[in-house]
Amino acid sequence: MKNFILLIVFLFTMSCSHNLPDFTSRLSSRLPTEGKPEAIGEFSLGCLQGGQTFNGKEKGLLLSQMKRGRYWGHPDLINILTRAGAEFDKENKTLIIGDLSQSRGGPSLTGHNSHQTGLDVDVWFKILTDKTKPSFYVMETEEMKPIAELGSDQIKLIKFFADDSSVERIFINPAFKKTLCTSKKLTADEQHKMRAWWGHDDHIHVRLKCPADNPSCVSQNAIPAGDGCGDELNWWFSDEAKDTDSSWTDMKNVYLDKIKKLPPQCSFYNETF
Ligand SMILES: [Zn+2]
Repeated sequence: MKNFILLIVFLFTMSCSHNLPDFTSRLSSRLPTEGKPEAIGEFSLGCLQGGQTFNGKEKGLLLSQMKRGRYWGHPDLINILTRAGAEFDKENKTLIIGDLSQSRGGPSLTGHNSHQTGLDVDVWFKILTDKTKPSFYVMETEEMKPIAELGSDQIKLIKFFADDSSVERIFINPAFKKTLCTSKKLTADEQHKMRAWWGHDDHIHVRLKCPADNPSCVSQNAIPAGDGCGDELNWWFSDEAKDTDSSWTDMKNVYLDKIKKLPPQCSFYNETF
């Protein structure tokens, strides 16, 4: 089942490794561990055992940014994305899927604090309506510009994920959160799951709950009660928020520091390095 993706990994590693630092290309091309799929540790400090990926036959999905090697996830994540693609495919539309996790989860060198346990995924706001392309295809993100407003397709996208009981929260740009608060297009439960965060002006970031049978998965603190539209949202437009630097100042040091702090069950993350 993984032959298709492994072939692509191989071809891409062959063709693009000269563009990537060696360390990064080794991270992006290695294979998952065997064993029961399991999210281990925290969303921002953990790993993924038995990572799964797409089989190339999913409808309504297009995988972007292949060279980053972050198209592995817990089966729950592959499952919800496959269902989302099938839903949009009914209208001849295609979702563009960004980063999931690396093959073994864990920290990565090129951005993203989370996406470490196979339960996080970025889904682009841009939705394709051109069915002349294959339903499972590779493209890079240069075309994925920030969008100006949330149209009906984006609202449908948000609702699809927010309504799914496996979804824990969804990160979105504060300006879009404000739009959602005033437009009243979401239910209270949907609004509750939508959380303002830096960036995310061209995609949403969907985070699943810890799977029930993954005892080493550490849940995040619960979302505060309410719709998140009051003072909490206003903070994002304050000077204090604007002064808060969310970017990594020294990615490599942060990365190396995180590797040292991974839970002991993640020892496979460091194998072959
Ligand atoms: Zn993300």
